[in-house]
Amino acid sequence: MSRNGRGTLGETWGLIRAVAGAMGVTLRNLFRKPVTVHYPDVIRPYPDRFRGLLALTYDPQTGEENCIGCRLCEYICPPQVIKVEMLKAEKRNYAKSFFLELYACEFCELCVQVCPTDAIIMMKSFDLATDDRRELLLDKDRLHQLGLEFPPSWATGERLRAMQAPASKGKEKVVPKEPSE
Ligand code: SF4
Ligand code: SF4
Repeated sequence: MSRNGRGTLGETWGLIRAVAGAMGVTLRNLFRKPVTVHYPDVIRPYPDRFRGLLALTYDPQTGEENCIGCRLCEYICPPQVIKVEMLKAEKRNYAKSFFLELYACEFCELCVQVCPTDAIIMMKSFDLATDDRRELLLDKDRLHQLGLEFPPSWATGERLRAMQAPASKGKEKVVPKEPSE
């Protein structure tokens, strides 16, 4: 047999082995339980510390908005996607307007961490897909609505700060429990 003939035979054999190997992988996976789900018909449970959509909260006791318009979230936000205008009132302050550009959010959770009234939190969902970016510019009403629509994640400003604060002298540090504990 010529050198050229041996080369062609070797290539053919290599091709057969590659196809057989690929078919083997296909066959093995054909009978495996799928790892994907038919979202959104099937929604996987999210972890309790999931960093999802941002939302504003109401006080469950009084029904009042928790946001006092202090703008701390605006100052801390690295990509500067939050804009708050404060409304001064007699007993307490409010957010006159609150805008959050969710399309540019980094989901760093810093706004949640600094909020003194647990007014801004993250939800256990990311279900806000759209082909229109303008829908991801969230105003105050939309942010409050999201807070009622989805289950909240564990983190609040108070919990995150307590977790990260150094223990004070002579006192045992009180760390808030993780949801799974
Ligand atoms: S999660 Fe981070 S990037 Fe997103 S709004 Fe809050 S501070 Fe800004
Ligand atoms: S969400 Fe919290 S940090 Fe942001 S303005 Fe309102 S009270 Fe202040």
